[in-house]
Amino acid sequence: MENQQIMNRAEHVLYKTYNRFPVAFSYGDGVSLYDMDGQEYLDFGAGIAVMGLGYGCREFKDAVKEQVDKLTHISNLFYNEPAVEAGEKLLKAAQMEKVFFTNSGTEAVEGALKIAKRYAYNKGMAPDYEIIAMKHSFHGRSLGALSVTGNDHYQEPFAPLIPNIKFATFNDLDSVKALFNEKTCAVLMETIQGEGGIYPATEEFLTGVRALCDEHDALLMLDEIQCGMGRSGAMFAWQAYNGVKPDVMTVAKALGNGVPIGAFLASGKAATAMVPGDHGTTYGGNPLVCAAAAKVLDLFEEKKIVEHVQEIGSYLWKKLDELAQNHPVIADHRGKGLIQGLEFTCPVGPLVKHALLEEKLVLISAGSNIIRFVPPLVIEKSDVDEMCLRLEKAIAAVLEGIREA
Ligand SMILES: *Cc1c(COP(=O)(O)O)cnc(C)c1O
Repeated sequence: MENQQIMNRAEHVLYKTYNRFPVAFSYGDGVSLYDMDGQEYLDFGAGIAVMGLGYGCREFKDAVKEQVDKLTHISNLFYNEPAVEAGEKLLKAAQMEKVFFTNSGTEAVEGALKIAKRYAYNKGMAPDYEIIAMKHSFHGRSLGALSVTGNDHYQEPFAPLIPNIKFATFNDLDSVKALFNEKTCAVLMETIQGEGGIYPATEEFLTGVRALCDEHDALLMLDEIQCGMGRSGAMFAWQAYNGVKPDVMTVAKALGNGVPIGAFLASGKAATAMVPGDHGTTYGGNPLVCAAAAKVLDLFEEKKIVEHVQEIGSYLWKKLDELAQNHPVIADHRGKGLIQGLEFTCPVGPLVKHALLEEKLVLISAGSNIIRFVPPLVIEKSDVDEMCLRLEKAIAAVLEGIREA
């Protein structure tokens, strides 16, 4: 009943840009979520790859509470220690040079695009320089990020967007090569495409794009907003590719474990492309969110999250492979670590809804036919087993006809 009441009130006030599932969550614990009526759900979505440390992590909560009592905001006109702490830790993990904190992923992408533009401007390039992005990519909903998101459906109602963005085909090096010319100033791509359907870049593709960027003095900008922060089984997904390092990287999602924070990181010439006055934010990098991110980065080390993802990720891989073998409706299985996808031969909307409402299993889709598995990074094998049991029941009920009891 409580769920229903919240839904009714929400429909009156919240701008309708989402078709939400009919559940209102009240609190969480570990990898479980509880709705307003007190029912427990097993969560394999992590608030869209955000809650890496799971719900209710004691050390994380204590650090945030401590900072709330101390200082939450002062603006970027002054220095604050948590921003320095978070910055040092993040740069150390990425082995990059400079960081700018934002409030979201899309703003991190905006920052990366501004670096690309400023980099071209500094080189004296004519203002018709080009950025290469990928088809089926996702970089966010603000106008700049939307301009590099290779999805006609998202772009069309908001055209015209930023000009001179060219779209190549992900994992097709020749398609990138064909778009490169003297006007190209940057290539932007996800290391593992998330929303587009969980497609990891191949070794050949990523190293090839890196080489093309070097050859043309263009920036390689990797969006690690979804696949970064340990999710792929490396701290940042590109670190698993031999010798590849981006000039600019964007992160967000799991960086704050639920507090809104993103960042763009830069190295080399990209790290000094923008100068004072070029970019700013009122909230970005405030002491509250940075204390949270600094704690997240500490806990990643203490809890050996990356190693844990490798172990549980391969277990999830094995279990999902078995599932795929047993169900002809599953056409493909892709991903790495704890960012995996199952592609079905049909739309998964009804399956996701059934799993949520009947099996109390939170799953999210990516595109129409793909279920994406992006659970809290702290899940255990028993959670994977339980998820598979519930998913299998949902598949049987929805996609293979309701069997008699
Ligand atoms: C979620 C996401 C974004 C946008 O992040 P927001 O915080 O929603 O603005 C950008 N890029 C990728 C790869 C993402 O997954």
